[in-house]
Amino acid sequence: MKLDVDVLRYLSKDDFRVLTAVEMGMRNHEIVPSDLIDRIASLKHGGTYKVLKNLLKHKLLHHDSSKYDGFRLTYLGYDFLAIKTMVNRGVFTAVGRQIGVGKESDIFEVACEDGTVMAMKLHRLGRTSFRAVKSKRDYLRHRSSYNWLYLSRLAALKEFAFMKALEEHGFPVPNAVDCNRHCVVMSLIQGYPLVQVKQLQNPETVFDTIIGLVVRLAEHGLIHCDFNEFNIMIDDDEKVTMIDFPQMVSVSHRNAQMYFDRDIECIFKFFGKRFNMSFEEQSDDIDGSEVDEDESGRPSFSSITKTAGFLDKELAASGFTRKDQDDIEKFIEGNAGDDVSDDEHESGLCQTNIKGFDSLHLDQKEPTSSCNEEEQGYENQHSLEAGLTGNPE
Ligand code: ADP
Ligand code: MG
Repeated sequence: MKLDVDVLRYLSKDDFRVLTAVEMGMRNHEIVPSDLIDRIASLKHGGTYKVLKNLLKHKLLHHDSSKYDGFRLTYLGYDFLAIKTMVNRGVFTAVGRQIGVGKESDIFEVACEDGTVMAMKLHRLGRTSFRAVKSKRDYLRHRSSYNWLYLSRLAALKEFAFMKALEEHGFPVPNAVDCNRHCVVMSLIQGYPLVQVKQLQNPETVFDTIIGLVVRLAEHGLIHCDFNEFNIMIDDDEKVTMIDFPQMVSVSHRNAQMYFDRDIECIFKFFGKRFNMSFEEQSDDIDGSEVDEDESGRPSFSSITKTAGFLDKELAASGFTRKDQDDIEKFIEGNAGDDVSDDEHESGLCQTNIKGFDSLHLDQKEPTSSCNEEEQGYENQHSLEAGLTGNPE
């Protein structure tokens, strides 16, 4: 998928005001009634309907008149809102090629004025279930669209908070740059996902490093929960970087042991198959034993000295709360087995687009400070909308 940001350059202040009004209306409406959008946006010179038509033409909104006349954001509309905020904040100035399609995200290169290239991850949590729900039109319709916005935002916030905390504790993760809505900007890892690597100079060393990371995470009170060849990047010097954190849980989670063993098993299986390393079959851990590994060489969860509480203490500081964690966990567990197949996963990994970067010199009359203006406006609109709909949020 190419994120066509050309349109972004031509959108006016009014366009963004109306797009933001739809986003706000979606806090309590699956489809936001047109007259409510008009009231939230309260354009100085009117003309909301014309603006809505323009946004619709660019596929930033979806029109629905089945029950009443209204609109909702599309993925693209939400992407544009986040990208605009990032550009206004001076985080990046251009969007380039897509470098990854994950299960629940799209990843693009972005560049700053000075040419530094970074990675932008747009979360699409609920994409798979959203697709399924779409085919059963009347089933959970309300929840599906609300969930997508809310959960994608939560996933981004969680990923950002974890990446920052892990980096501070010396884990090899990308540098977390900024986060807004469902979008996380991080440093670009110069390497390949392990799944694409056919040969290694030192497979044993890489293997030990990776297993060591799973153990060290647990010592810090965390389990990755999706620790596999898709989420481990490796560079030409065989340096390992781990990515993709929205599903991480605490070692005090009720299924912690299972998640830990599963992460370990994924690595053992992959290295066994890809690099012909031989391991014993997994054996049951001996309860209460002091050994660090079971008979098959797999680290045993019970023998690791774990510091629980990492989640609560370190992450609360980033604005990611216990309730956020519970909400996202409920969703992820509820969707277990919803994953796309490995084929689908893999085929998306190398999508490129030759066009290179699209520079985003948005409305020059709107300097960086307009970010505050925008956020200020957002606050005002928020209270206005709460007043209009009686939503206590
Ligand atoms: P998902 O949660 O959807 O699986 P990931 O974070 O795993 O998303 O990213 C999907 C793919 O995008 C990765 O397999 C990798 O190829 C690429 N990618 C993600 N983050 C980066 C990064 N910081 N630098 C380079 N490539 C990345
Ligand atoms: Mg991934």
